[in-house]
Amino acid sequence: MDQKGRFAYLIEQLMELPGVGRKSAQRMAFYILKMPAESAKKIGQAIIDVKDMLSFCKICNNISEGEICAICASPNRDSQRVVVVEEPSTLYAIERTGEYKGLYHVLLGALSPLSETNGTELTIKNLIERLEKGGISEVIIATNPNIEGEATAIYLTRLIKPLHIKVTRIACGIPVGVDLEYADEVTLAKSLEGRREIG
Ligand SMILES: [Zn+2]
Repeated sequence: MDQKGRFAYLIEQLMELPGVGRKSAQRMAFYILKMPAESAKKIGQAIIDVKDMLSFCKICNNISEGEICAICASPNRDSQRVVVVEEPSTLYAIERTGEYKGLYHVLLGALSPLSETNGTELTIKNLIERLEKGGISEVIIATNPNIEGEATAIYLTRLIKPLHIKVTRIACGIPVGVDLEYADEVTLAKSLEGRREIG
């Protein structure tokens, strides 16, 4: 490969990443070229390490160092409850609360009602098979409160209900520490809809 070819090849490879078009890829490639060799090598090595050492958990699709992730492998988790999330980053956010002791299922995306996707690239089939095996009494749907997340929640509910498993959706509402008068109408309406009895 000649010099020009090598640079073009890097641009092409960067364009494989989501949301990276030719312009951004070119900008990144120039940046990499100008970077100290040590820093650029760190990026390359981090990519290699992730691919060599990490994969998706065979049960819940969380990021895992082995075939089964630490959460699925733990005997201290409540195996009757499963929280369904779109991405591992949401799983980490819920874990940080320290409030949830059940298991998870990571969809690795959400259904997009406006595009052609029918969800086969998601891990929905995997989830249903898992539920059919029994032992799970509640599925808590924690997909994002946007069009895709809501569509996914509705679709999942339709699939799970016939299995006679309780399906719940996380509440949407007012962020803690915010004055109600500053909340937008949709959030305020959602928080009214998701109200609960006190005491
Ligand atoms: Zn797992």
